[in-house]
Amino acid sequence: MIFGTKILQLIYEPDEQLHVSCAPVEKSQLEDKQLRQFFIHLRATMKQAKGVGIAAPQVGNLIRACWVSTHGKDAILLINPVIVVRSHDSVWGEEGCLSIPGVFGEVLRAKTVDIEYWDSHGDNHRMYAEDFLARVIQHEIDHLDGVLFTSKARNVYHV
Ligand SMILES: [Zn+2]
Repeated sequence: MIFGTKILQLIYEPDEQLHVSCAPVEKSQLEDKQLRQFFIHLRATMKQAKGVGIAAPQVGNLIRACWVSTHGKDAILLINPVIVVRSHDSVWGEEGCLSIPGVFGEVLRAKTVDIEYWDSHGDNHRMYAEDFLARVIQHEIDHLDGVLFTSKARNVYHV
C-alpha cells in the first residue's frame, strides 16, 4: 500500500445513501487536494475489498465518480461517466457488490458500451468497453444513479 493511502468505510445495503442520484463533479472541485486524495483512498478501498469496481457513494460520498478495473489491468477513474452508446446485444452475467456482501445474481447488461468521462484533471475521454469491463462500468454507473444490481437481478442467491 502506498504511504498515506487510507481504507475508507464501506456502507452497506440498506443505507439510504446507496439509493441517491449523485451530484456531478464540478471542474473546480478537481483542484481540491482532498478530493484528489479521496480518489486514491477510494481505489485503495476497492483493492483491499478485492472489488473490480467501486463508486464514491459506496463510501458515502455522493458524487459521480467511480473506479473500474479488469483482471491484470490498472484501474481507471471515471468522473462524471456517461454511456453515450450501448449495444443492442445484451447478455446475462453474474454480479455481486461490495455494498451487498454475500449476495449474487444475474443481471442483463448491454454487451458493449461507449462512455465519456473525465479523468482527474477534468480532461474528457471516450472509451469503448465490452463484455466484463462493460458490465462493471454499467454496474458502477448504476451506483451513481442510486441503483443496486439486486433491483434488476434474477436468480439471486446468498452465500
Ligand atoms: Zn456495486
